[in-house]
Formats: sequence, C-alpha cells, structure tokens
Amino acid sequence: MHGPFRAALANLRGAVRESVSLAPVSHLRIGGPAEWFIEAATDQDVALVARACRECEVPLHVLGGGSNVLIADEGVRGVVMSLERLNRVVRDDTRLIAGAGVSVRGLIPLTIGQGLAGLETLAGVPAQVGGAVAMNAGTREGETFDLLESIVVVDREGEIVEVGRDGFHARYRDGGLDGRIVLSARFALRLEEPRAIRERFDGYIRHRNATQPASEKSVGCVFRNPPGDAAGRLIERAGCKLLREGGISVSGKHANYFVNDGSGTCADFVRLIRTVASRVAADFGVALELEVRTWEVRGLEGPPSA
Ligand SMILES: Cc1cc2nc3c(=O)[nH]c(=O)nc-3n(C[C@H](O)[C@H](O)[C@H](O)COP(=O)(O)OP(=O)(O)OC[C@H]3O[C@@H](n4cnc5c(N)ncnc54)[C@H](O)[C@@H]3O)c2cc1C
Repeated sequence: MHGPFRAALANLRGAVRESVSLAPVSHLRIGGPAEWFIEAATDQDVALVARACRECEVPLHVLGGGSNVLIADEGVRGVVMSLERLNRVVRDDTRLIAGAGVSVRGLIPLTIGQGLAGLETLAGVPAQVGGAVAMNAGTREGETFDLLESIVVVDREGEIVEVGRDGFHARYRDGGLDGRIVLSARFALRLEEPRAIRERFDGYIRHRNATQPASEKSVGCVFRNPPGDAAGRLIERAGCKLLREGGISVSGKHANYFVNDGSGTCADFVRLIRTVASRVAADFGVALELEVRTWEVRGLEGPPSA
C-alpha cells in the first residue's frame, strides 16, 4: 500500500488485510485475491475508505453477501470493502432500520416473529441489505424498492446522507445507486398475524426449492429477463440446459442458473455465458444482458458469437 493511501486510512477503525482470496466470500466460490480487503467497522469507516480511494485513485469494490458477483480468477486490483459489520437492526413502530451488512435471510424470520409483513416477499434471496438495495433484488412477489422508505448512503462526495426512495432511479434489478454506497435502509412494513406471514413465506420457499437449484453454488439468475419474456425459457428452448464448460454447467432445474461443481473457474463461467448468449441470439434474435455484476472479468466484450 503506497504512503498517501495508507495515510488517508489512518483513522480507520476496521481491519485492512492484504491479498485476501475472494472465492470464500463469493456465493459461487470463484475469484482470485483482492489486493486489499477492508472490513468497515462503522458508517464513518465506509465514508473514509470511499474518500481515500477517490483521492488516491484506488479502485473500490463494495461487497455485500457475494451472491451476485462474478470475480476474475486473477483477482481484483485496489480495495474490496466488506460491510458485514454494519449489522444493526432497529425497530421504529412498523418501520425497520437495518444496516447494509444485515443478512436478508436472517432478517425475515425476525420480522415474521414481530408480526411485520413485507420482507417475506424476498424469501430465499441470499443478499445482505446493501446488496438487495443495490440490485433492487426481487421475486415474483415484489422487489426491494417496494418496501423502502429511505436509505442512508455515502454519496459521491464521500458524505453520509439520508435519501428518500424517490432519490434513486430504481428499475428492474438495479437500485440506481449511481456510485453511492448503502449504509442502512429504512423499510416500511405493515402489521399482520405472524402465522399468516409465515404461511406465505413457507409457500414462497417451497416454490423456490421446487424450481431453482437453491443449495448449489451459483449467482442466481445470470441474465436479466428480456422485456415480456424469461431468459431461462429462452435458454432452455435454445437447448442449453446442462450445457457445460469445465466445472460450470447450466442447471437442469432452472436454465438461467449456472452452477459450479466446485472445480469451476471464472474463465469457464465466461465461456458458458458466451455460448449460451450466442445460441439464444441465433435462435431468437434476443441479445441477453447480464444480471450478474462482474469484477475485472475479461472476455465478455464484443458479440457473444465472436
Ligand atoms: C441461490 C441464489 C438465488 C437468488 N435469487 C434471487 C432472486 O430471487 N431475486 C434477485 O433479485 N436476486 C437473486 N439472486 C441474486 C442476488 O442474491 C441478488 O442480486 C442480491 O441482491 C445480491 O446481494 P448481495 O448482498 O449478495 O450483493 P453482492 O453480490 O455482494 O453485490 C452485488 C452488487 O451490489 C453492490 N453492493 C453490495 N452491497 C452494496 C452496498 N452496501 N452499497 C452499494 N453497493 C453494494 C456490489 O458492489 C455489486 O455490484 C440470487 C442469488 C443466488 C446465489
């Protein structure tokens, strides 16, 4: 770490480690080392790191639950910052304020127990709150921005500010953060009998388990659904189910999921993306767009058939 950058981080409360493998923090279990891995301990830490990276021109990647990132086998330059320690949850009447590092999977049973309905629509999404906001994660039952009232972020100037949900251009699988970093989110929930919420939640989980390879190493849906269609349907109809590149294959249960058998690499994943996208383009004239976020991944430029 060069001198000015080290000096800019002098007041950091959290930990900085060098050359940390990212595979264990990615749901897919793929990814080389981060040059520096920072675990932010406070909101101020996040702002400090954001400012230091900007001033010293060090690349910064913010890590949530790692369930929607494809990370290069060679690793990532600069800083990867984990917000896992921002894990406070505070109830304010029917609102819930949750830190960016809170696991959505852990939060849902808590809200059900307190008779607060709404978050159960995100059943089965293995996100942290920050990642769910960043991606506007959603299911057929609804999406994250439906539930939000406001979000505390580090803005592009490195200041901590609270922004109402209308201050974001959220759309399908994109929270429209535009470079801002989520510190916490205020969810507006509604009172309901815990048993009724629990029954709905159990139904959503049953449906997911029946239709998706929930327990395998994946990033969920690889491609966004094109308008009016489902990427999984197109991939299946293009005959790509169970197609394999190295250790990565198209799931037999849901064709928009690519699963890692444990030996897969980012390069395998990229080859499979290209093959599937080119077959769908050839058969249906549809250019699939990636939903998964990629970190320093090469080989995705240009038309898929190239
Ligand atoms: C088995 C499985 C099932 C899935 N099912 C669904 C589903 O039903 N619906 C759905 O929408 N998605 C689904 N996904 C994808 C994924 O869970 C979502 O995209 C989720 O929102 C990612 O959250 P994360 O915390 O894991 O973020 P990460 O994967 O860590 O990051 C994703 C992106 O968000 C950014 N980010 C993370 N935290 C912050 C923050 N605090 N501030 C700013 N940016 C941040 C990252 O930089 C990155 O660009 C699934 C994934 C898996 C593995």
